[in-house]
Amino acid sequence: MEISTVNHSFNDAIRQIVQLFFDIAEDIKVKSVLEEDGFNLIAFAEIFVNDKKGTGKATAKITAERRFVSDLIKKSVSLACREISDMPSPWGISTGIRPAKEARRMLDEGKTDIEILSFLEQEMWITEEKALLSLDVAKREKEILKNKRENGASIYVGIPFCPTRCAYCSFISQAVAHNEKFIEPYVKALIKEIEATAKLCEKRGDSIETIYFGGGTPTALSVQNLRTLIDAVKKNFDVSNLREFTVEAGRPDTFTEEMVSMLYDSGVKRISINPQTMNDKTLKLIGRCHSASQTVDAFKMAKKYDFSINADLIAGLPEENAEDFKYTMDELLKLEPDAVTVHTMYLKRAARLIDEFSKYRFVTEANSMVSYAKLKLEENGYNPYYLYKQKNTLGNLENTAFAKSGHECLYNIYIMEEVQTIFALGGGASTKIVKDGEISRIYNPKDAADYIRRIDEITEKKGFLNSPDRKKAKLFNE
Ligand code: SF4
Repeated sequence: MEISTVNHSFNDAIRQIVQLFFDIAEDIKVKSVLEEDGFNLIAFAEIFVNDKKGTGKATAKITAERRFVSDLIKKSVSLACREISDMPSPWGISTGIRPAKEARRMLDEGKTDIEILSFLEQEMWITEEKALLSLDVAKREKEILKNKRENGASIYVGIPFCPTRCAYCSFISQAVAHNEKFIEPYVKALIKEIEATAKLCEKRGDSIETIYFGGGTPTALSVQNLRTLIDAVKKNFDVSNLREFTVEAGRPDTFTEEMVSMLYDSGVKRISINPQTMNDKTLKLIGRCHSASQTVDAFKMAKKYDFSINADLIAGLPEENAEDFKYTMDELLKLEPDAVTVHTMYLKRAARLIDEFSKYRFVTEANSMVSYAKLKLEENGYNPYYLYKQKNTLGNLENTAFAKSGHECLYNIYIMEEVQTIFALGGGASTKIVKDGEISRIYNPKDAADYIRRIDEITEKKGFLNSPDRKKAKLFNE
């Protein structure tokens, strides 16, 4: 994308808006000009995409606030894009990953619901439906965060293995069958990192509030390996004040009676069983290699224990229409999960699907799917409490987590709101140390083989996080 600007340098803001409407691989040129006439700031935009041209103009009273100048430019570019694109933009000029952030900020400032909604709709150009969702989530998050511990911290353990790789996967996960040789060394490396990180945590005086085993699919490991890892966390960290312990069981084809009872006996309180869809045809198409009846069986097994169960769904899967999604939603409700997370189909470059894109038919009714999900979930006592956006989703839609009261995932909120230290362990995991409002991050190598090979370096660098020489830990980012 070629961007030229006159009288400003908000190139990133322009790029973020253009990406809502077009694939950046297209031939795109944008020209943006900022002018003033003594009273008003005027932003002009021209966009050329292949052989089409769009123009936009936005005007506002002169203000010194950088943020409002950036928004003005975004509006002019958004208008230009809309002239030549049919892509909906329900979130207007909001381009961040946390669409509830503005509403939260305004709630903290003591603004009323009406003030917040009118700002979101009139200034951010967010649709009424999404503005209401955003405010609803912001209120619930605010309530949940009231009980967050001051010295609390969370542990994330990443298991980058799955039974098979889904067609749309953009994670670093690898199929177990092709990576058997890495599994034992990976578990050993993780144990080293658990031991080193626990020492760091003890020195810092953090109190572990939540544990989250994610991935990948942690239950793709053998029962014994997963138990070893859970035991290592419980033995090395002080978990006496734990409030939440989640394991993403993810793929129903990894569920066995033995696995479920081990998780329960190990103190896991929350699991996620992710059907994504209840249509077998789609499951086959996206390479999930399990059936809807395996999801039903997994629920039956899990329901014998006192778990809080979350289920993930995807709206807009290839070849699915609104009726297919409705069927999935209705079938899932019969299984009575405690929480449901509704994702919108996400077409990231890493996914195999992008190469085969032309083979599949993607619907334009993704918004009606997420609206249906919200309606049905609210009718059945679930409330939205967590919201995020990714780039390249169908219809520029969001991902929303709904839960029955008391079943909200604390870890998800803490990580999204960046309000708590997260000790992240494993390949591709990123540790986030929150101290005095400042956040330091260190990233583990993404590739499992690289992670295993560099484990001693990783544990050594993590030790520096608590020393005056914190920069040495940052070296690890390179
Ligand atoms: S289960 Fe999740 S992490 Fe695993 S391959 Fe599928 S999308 Fe990727």
